[in-house]
Amino acid sequence: MNKPKIWLSSPHLSGLEQEYVRDAIDSNWIAPLGPYVDLFEENLKRFCQVSGVALLISGTAAIHLGLKLIGVAQNDIVLCQSFTFSASANPILYEKATPVFIDSELETWNMCPNLLEEAIVKYVAKGKKPKAIIVVHLYGMPANMDKIVALAGKFEIPILEDAAEALGSNIDGKPCGSFSEFGVLSFNGNKIITTSGGGALLSNNEEAIEKARFLASQAKDFAPHYQHSEIGYNYRLSNISAAIGVAQLSIIKDRVASRRENYEYYLKQLSHIEGFTFLSEPTTYFSNRWLTTLTVDPSIYNLDIINLALAKENIESRPLWKPMHIQPIFMDCDIFGGEVSENLFNKGICLPSGSNLTLEEKERVISVIISSINS
Ligand SMILES: *Cc1c(COP(=O)(O)O)cnc(C)c1O
Repeated sequence: MNKPKIWLSSPHLSGLEQEYVRDAIDSNWIAPLGPYVDLFEENLKRFCQVSGVALLISGTAAIHLGLKLIGVAQNDIVLCQSFTFSASANPILYEKATPVFIDSELETWNMCPNLLEEAIVKYVAKGKKPKAIIVVHLYGMPANMDKIVALAGKFEIPILEDAAEALGSNIDGKPCGSFSEFGVLSFNGNKIITTSGGGALLSNNEEAIEKARFLASQAKDFAPHYQHSEIGYNYRLSNISAAIGVAQLSIIKDRVASRRENYEYYLKQLSHIEGFTFLSEPTTYFSNRWLTTLTVDPSIYNLDIINLALAKENIESRPLWKPMHIQPIFMDCDIFGGEVSENLFNKGICLPSGSNLTLEEKERVISVIISSINS
């Protein structure tokens, strides 16, 4: 008989969702937009410490509009972290701009500031100053924003922070997504909180957020008839989804605490094993530990055997993200560095990390890993 499935990261309801969704339905605010959209935006502003939030249908849509608002257009260079999910980079191609990838640093697994500087200097010298920088707080670990913000400031290049995996993470109390021109959140089903699908664009530039709302609702000019002087998108979140979001955000602190407990548990059970390495938080960094990730030294253990053993016991695990510069679709793009993220991809694993995991489930994960490396 199959053991019950243990998921990598499954939705975790708070208990308030039905009440808020019922309220939205009872008031006939199914669409368009509505009071829960306004409320969720207000609550996110407070939580993320920004003055503007536009709720959108996905994190990907938020990255797309962020790039448009920065003014990214055909043939512009956009510098993007290579170690990420493809949704960070695809919107560069939506606008026919040119992605150039930057490898990671070992301290955070996110964009390496030294390689970023090298790339900026090289393109500036060629007379092709990069139009934007996309930095990612992968797996919830904040990127090295001190150095990246300083560099971007020196060369006057706007930053878009992909904080899709990092709601609840911060550096010295400053939330991920609030360090730069634009921040992006995702409420996809696998993220730390979910609206069943959704995203948000964050900024302290309220005018830009107003413009994002305009573009996201078909770019209707102010006129009695339908008039359009710009290309519009249908990217706004529904009031029903936002009602779920209000419920989910109300318990975010508990969700962060549970994910961090997962990390602490796995660390305690596995970190004494030679060749198993966890990513620790630099001082003043606070990760929501969206997924617990570790690397396994291939000269000591075969990661395939561990992954197969987990799959056989109906436990979902995943390799780390495959870097963009070795993805078929981005193979022709320039890359600065590359070895760090390639190594992480080859050696890394994500363990089940949902905030709803029970201790028994985590014990099952550990016992399968331990027996797979001892066999
Ligand atoms: C999930 C994710 C996205 C995309 O968010 P969606 O809401 O699924 O469109 C973008 N970047 C990263 C790093 C993600 O993990």
